[in-house]
Amino acid sequence: MCQISEHIVSWMADPANNALEPGSDLPAFDQPLVGFAAGEDALFTFIKNDIGPAFYWTPEEAFKAAFPAETVRADELSVIAWILPQTLHTRLAHRKSVGLPSPEWSKARHYGEKVNENLRLHLVDLFLAAGYKALAPVLLPQWARALSDRYGYASSWSERHAAHVCGLGTFGLSDGLITPAGKAVRVGSVIIRKRFAPTPRTYTSHNEWCLFKSTGKCLACMKRCPAGAISEAGHDKVKCKEYIRNVTAVHVEQEQLGFRVNSCGLCQTKVPCESRNPLASAKNA
Ligand code: SF4
Ligand code: SF4
Repeated sequence: MCQISEHIVSWMADPANNALEPGSDLPAFDQPLVGFAAGEDALFTFIKNDIGPAFYWTPEEAFKAAFPAETVRADELSVIAWILPQTLHTRLAHRKSVGLPSPEWSKARHYGEKVNENLRLHLVDLFLAAGYKALAPVLLPQWARALSDRYGYASSWSERHAAHVCGLGTFGLSDGLITPAGKAVRVGSVIIRKRFAPTPRTYTSHNEWCLFKSTGKCLACMKRCPAGAISEAGHDKVKCKEYIRNVTAVHVEQEQLGFRVNSCGLCQTKVPCESRNPLASAKNA
């Protein structure tokens, strides 16, 4: 494992950085996976053109948004992405949930994402202190939500797509990233003006690790979705968002945390890709 991967794993192993909620002894996430990509990787440009050439950033464009006075070439940059796997504690609780998210999942969605945000900030500070320009694209003030002609709801930078380029997984039917630690995960990334060896991608298509996409069988996530937002055609982002906004976020406010959280993720547990690449498991079985 390279030094920065070890640093991320060690930072996440400190309970002071990784708690399911303030004061809890339970971690928000298990040990992270870390991957790297070269800033000039052609897949970044492909994704930009596929999602939204007018608004989606390449690493070079994100860097220029953060440091407008700097000149930079894409081949000076690296993208570092990480996967934060949900714990067994959270997954077990969430597996039992039908229609509404478990309190554990809602805490991981809210407080866990704060952990993820702190990790992004920590890495940027670490690199800046060492003399390397760095940024977390989703934390830039210019990062914005947008509408993709092809895919609907989108944004300037997608953490899941960055992780896909960094060799960390492929997309499932429900749009989640199926990683070696499964799909019940949170994802983060930073861009740095420093070179790291890219992580090899062990897949050739964007949805290779989804059982339905590769074998025509599964659809477990479709059956778990209470909103009817997953079909053989894929993920209906509008139905998903409406259900979360109108049903689950309200439930979290009224019955769980006292404030609204965009919590759901039922399609990420009690499915074959919950905590592993199901295709690798099938091949290894
Ligand atoms: S539950 Fe099955 S169909 Fe859905 S993303 Fe996972 S492997 Fe694909
Ligand atoms: S997050 Fe919830 S509503 Fe959205 S697709 Fe998954 S199960 Fe359905």
